[in-house]
Amino acid sequence: MKIIMLGAPGAGKGTRAAVAAAHYNMPHISTGDIFRANLKEGTELGLRAKEYMDAGELVPDELTVEILLSRVTQKDCEGGYILDGFPRTIRQAEVLEAELKKLDDKIDFAIDIDVPDDVIEVRMTGRRVCTKCGATYHIVHAPTAKDGICDACGGEVVQRKDDAPETVRQRLRVYHEQTQPLIAFYKERGILKWIDGCGPLDDALADVIRVLE
Ligand code: AMP
Repeated sequence: MKIIMLGAPGAGKGTRAAVAAAHYNMPHISTGDIFRANLKEGTELGLRAKEYMDAGELVPDELTVEILLSRVTQKDCEGGYILDGFPRTIRQAEVLEAELKKLDDKIDFAIDIDVPDDVIEVRMTGRRVCTKCGATYHIVHAPTAKDGICDACGGEVVQRKDDAPETVRQRLRVYHEQTQPLIAFYKERGILKWIDGCGPLDDALADVIRVLE
C-alpha cells in the first residue's frame, strides 16, 4: 500500500504518518526530515535546502523529486510506504505518478488532514525543539519543566527558524498556493480520504485506520 499524507505544515501529517507506518510496518518517508538530516551532516543538498526552508519557501522540484525517487526505489519500499510532505506541488505529484506508472504501480490513497490556519499558527509558533535529542514541546500544550531545557536530555530547547511567526504565515501562503491544489488532483483520481486534524492526537492511528479500512 502506498499512501500520501496531505495537509498544511503543522496539520499533524508527521505524527499520523509515524503511527501508521509503525502499525502497517512500512517506511515513513518525510522529505523535510531528509533535508534536515542532510543539513545536520552538512551535505551540499542540506545547505541548498536550508535557504528555502528558513524562508518558508519550497525547495525547488528538481532537488526534491530526485531525493524522493532515490528513496522510494530502495528495497524497503517494495511493499509500500507512507509519504509525509511529498508531493507539495502538482509537478511533484505528476512526476511521482509517471515514475510509478513506468513500474505499473500507483498511489493507493491520499489522506488530507484538515486544520484551519488559525489553529496551525498557534500550534507551530508555540512549538519548541531540543537541539540535542530532537524532542518536541509546545509552550502552551506541552511545556518543558524548566524553561528552555529539555526534560529528556537537558539539551537546549529552541524555536525552529521555520516556526517563527512570519515564516509560518509564509509557509501557509505557500501551502494554499502550491500544495492545496493536490486535494483536487487526488480527488479526481478517486483516492482522496479526509481526516479532521483538530481532533486529539491520541486518536491519530484510529483516524488513519478508519479512513483506510
Ligand atoms: P516539513 O518538515 O515537511 O514541514 O518540511 C520542512 C521544509 O522542507 C518545508 O517548509 C520546505 O521548505 C522543505 N520541503 C519538505 N518537503 C518538500 C517538498 N516535497 N517540496 C519542496 N520543499 C519541501
